[in-house]
Amino acid sequence: MSDQLVIDTLDFVCNRGSLQGNIPLVGLERLRSYLADTAGELTYLISGQLDRHSRPMLKISVNGNVNLSCQRCLKKMEYGLDLETELLLARNEDELSRYDEDIFVDAIYASSELSIQLLIEDEVILGLPISPRHQNVQCHVSTKAEIHTTATKEHPFTVLASLKRTH
Ligand SMILES: [Zn+2]
Repeated sequence: MSDQLVIDTLDFVCNRGSLQGNIPLVGLERLRSYLADTAGELTYLISGQLDRHSRPMLKISVNGNVNLSCQRCLKKMEYGLDLETELLLARNEDELSRYDEDIFVDAIYASSELSIQLLIEDEVILGLPISPRHQNVQCHVSTKAEIHTTATKEHPFTVLASLKRTH
């Protein structure tokens, strides 16, 4: 990806900038390790705004379907991403540590060269469920049931074998 989109974050806020676009999942290398496959793409919208205390921030929304691996049956599981985030832009270390202490806000360093793609990728990784699982009815736990039936089928023979051995 040579045509990476980069913004100057504080300029972006001053100009009330707004950007939207699509990112194919296949281009997001760090995110890939969290996914079952890289089919599809994400749609994003980023706008530069001031929060109610007049602090510069980026408002980010990301939508799209990704395929995760269910942690119960390990099969593919479609997950609909619908993220809305507000990131305050810290202009120095003091501001960043102050924002970090506030559990109600998220913050990043204001940057003159922020990659939109890396930003979106970070947000998506943070927004993924830690332990994704199918809803019970959709889960392929039948593999477990199959193991059970073969076990019961074998059972009479095992009993027979142990009987023979004792006689
Ligand atoms: Zn499952």
